[in-house]
Amino acid sequence: MKIENLSQRDKKHLWHPLTQHKLSGDMLAIVKAKGAVLYDEQGKEYVDGISSWYTAVYGHCNEDITNKVAAQMQQLDQVVFSGFTHEPAIALSEALIKILPANQEKLFFSDNGSTATEVGIKMALQYHHNHGRKRKVMLAFEEGFHGDTFGAMSVSELSVYNGAFEEHFIKVLRLPVPVGENNAEVLNLFKKFISEENLAGFIYEPLIQGAAGMKFVDPEGLDQILKICKENKILTIADEVMTGFGKTGKNFASDYLQNKPDIICMSKALTAGLLPMAVTSCTAEVFNAFYSDELSKGLFHGHTYTANPLACTAALAGIELLTSKQMQENIKRVIDSHKAFKKRIQGHPKVKNTRHLGTIIAFELDVKMERYGSLRNRLFEHFMSQGIFLRPLGNTIYIAAPYITTNEQLEKIYLSIEAALDKF
Ligand SMILES: *Cc1c(COP(=O)(O)O)cnc(C)c1O
Repeated sequence: MKIENLSQRDKKHLWHPLTQHKLSGDMLAIVKAKGAVLYDEQGKEYVDGISSWYTAVYGHCNEDITNKVAAQMQQLDQVVFSGFTHEPAIALSEALIKILPANQEKLFFSDNGSTATEVGIKMALQYHHNHGRKRKVMLAFEEGFHGDTFGAMSVSELSVYNGAFEEHFIKVLRLPVPVGENNAEVLNLFKKFISEENLAGFIYEPLIQGAAGMKFVDPEGLDQILKICKENKILTIADEVMTGFGKTGKNFASDYLQNKPDIICMSKALTAGLLPMAVTSCTAEVFNAFYSDELSKGLFHGHTYTANPLACTAALAGIELLTSKQMQENIKRVIDSHKAFKKRIQGHPKVKNTRHLGTIIAFELDVKMERYGSLRNRLFEHFMSQGIFLRPLGNTIYIAAPYITTNEQLEKIYLSIEAALDKF
């Protein structure tokens, strides 16, 4: 009997995310992960340069986290969160409120980044509904990404994903991202929108648009938009699903801004890469709009696994790590390392638009290539062959490695990028 490897067995029944199966090759089977390293079926090692989609920021299989989750598993695995509560959710709420912007008061749980933004959008729409105001239109940035469920897709603008669904979307107006020189234009357009439509909420990725290719947002421009939102009772929803938990050098990207959001969406690094979970936090003012003698004013949204005790335990352990002296030192070390690497590459003729904030560094590879898609795939293959897992977005190369990535591993990533500059 022929023994098939995992990549071959995978093909029989599995349908992978964001994949056109006819055009993509075999899936690479990963059998182990530790720290910043992934191990494949053949035992080959890869430095996880994107923290497995920005989740495992404290390193994979971190024993501080896995031990606590293993203990929690023996105690309470899962219970309904409607009518019941439990210590892991309460302890997490206390720890999370401490590190969130000071105006955040209440936490609502769901399962992933898309549901976190979905809940944020529903909070904004129902907030106005409960106040008896007709506000049905959302505001979002061009090229934003907020997830793959219908509400989240509506406010996102990545057309490859959305084509078949667009006519079912909620109504959304879109602002160009302020980048400095266009700030006045963006504000004028925003004011025009306000005079024409009753805007309910504004959803945005603070400071960095991840899926758009690590595009940077001008903090002053964003702050001005947020200020005008406050003046016009347009609820502000910070989608910190990617930027949250230290990636920008502060706990949240919103910490860099003067105007704090009414609602914050979190997932990805929330549970440190261990289990899926999300939180949508909000101010007391938002919560109070739902607090009523009328049943129908409540937020009737709920997922079966809401506030799963194991996921809450992982998240609490993650926050303890994030706020530890050692992890903060690691974050500083990665920031300094990227700073030096930025100097190394930014004069290179093929390197355009180098940008760096916190533990994230990105640039565009400026080369002529017959097909954009093929450049992206050849870059990906190049990095993998060098034992580096990076996922270029088009011609954008970026690093968002775990904070515990060693200096040697960081140097390995940098060298593979410099080799790509020579090769392409
Ligand atoms: C990944 C991401 C989402 C969606 O999260 P999922 O867990 O993949 O549903 C939403 N917003 C931002 C900014 C993201 O990076």
